[in-house]
Amino acid sequence: MQVPLLDLKLQYGPLKAQILKEIEAVADSQHLVLGPQVEQLERSIEAYTGAPHAIGVSSGTDAQLVLLMALGIGPGDAVITTPYTFFATAGCVARLGARVVFADIDPATYNISVESLEAALARTANVKAIIPVHLYGCCADMEAIQKLAAHYGVPVLEDAAQALGARHPLGAAGAIADAGWYSFYPTKNLGAFGDAGMVTCKDAALAAKIRSLRNHGMEPKYFHHSVGGNFRLDAIQAAVLNVKLPHLDSWGAGRRARAAFYRSEFQKRGLNAALTLPVEPWAGCGVNDHHIYNQFVVRAPKRDALRNALQNAGVGSEIYYPLPLHEQKCFRSLGYSTGDFPEAERAARESLALPIFPELTEAQQLYVTDQIARFYGM
Ligand SMILES: *Cc1c(COP(=O)(O)O)cnc(C)c1O
Repeated sequence: MQVPLLDLKLQYGPLKAQILKEIEAVADSQHLVLGPQVEQLERSIEAYTGAPHAIGVSSGTDAQLVLLMALGIGPGDAVITTPYTFFATAGCVARLGARVVFADIDPATYNISVESLEAALARTANVKAIIPVHLYGCCADMEAIQKLAAHYGVPVLEDAAQALGARHPLGAAGAIADAGWYSFYPTKNLGAFGDAGMVTCKDAALAAKIRSLRNHGMEPKYFHHSVGGNFRLDAIQAAVLNVKLPHLDSWGAGRRARAAFYRSEFQKRGLNAALTLPVEPWAGCGVNDHHIYNQFVVRAPKRDALRNALQNAGVGSEIYYPLPLHEQKCFRSLGYSTGDFPEAERAARESLALPIFPELTEAQQLYVTDQIARFYGM
């Protein structure tokens, strides 16, 4: 049996006719950049998340970059985030000449540790933003983070690239704090046919600034108020996303059901003694308690050998992320060294993402479970 980490063809199949029809409509209109499909997507994301303003952009990375530009973050400023995330979270800060300051993660959720964040805030001057990442689709501890941020008078910006559709008692991931962003990279919860992203924010003036910077700070044509960039979203990407968005909740439910099935099968096979399963810290808070499982990540003893065994058995898996950001070559100048963030480093050694997507079958999940049990001799 083959169990891929993700198979996007299975999602595309049933939507193919509708998606191609919408792409054809864009092609016929020849209105290819921004325009009505992008505006429709922006209004839909506002309605879906409760964010007052949503601005469509060219990628999740560009969403963060243009937001930081709009906030005026640059040389002399510091931004605190986690070293255990996709590179872009810290990369955008560095690109603007601001200093990346890391705080370690909570070992249970893999999200930024409130204690570590508090210590970083206390010892760092000129902090201009705190960026929690809702890693794997599980919200960070937003209540505690926002309390600290309010104490220090620093805005909180949510990296919700992996978490569109996830909930927290305080609201939808990406629409809780001052601002945030989503990625529509094909492997995210809502995937475009290429790169696309969205910024969200509460403040109308900030939203207007982002809209302007998205298009080279140009208003009207060829008159430039500030130096922005080309962060525009293509109409074809928005058209695809408009077809897919109504399915997001059912896909999220599908991801959650498959996470629950892994849990019960692992329990039956005694695998919980070997593996550490993902936690759902916001469970029990009513309807707003979803971990959206963009990834189902376990901690596994002998992780690399397990991954090899799974690969030999036709099961896909991935390591998110093998090297924490404070140990990356390009960030050597930040002055960190191995040992500075032990929980991020341990997660990088132990964690393994297993196949999870709404079309994954029970037979495939049982096969994955069997292969893991066989590896541990259980
Ligand atoms: C994917 C991702 C991004 C970047 O999004 P792109 O659309 O690929 O540019 C940023 N942060 C996190 C946590 C991500 O997973």
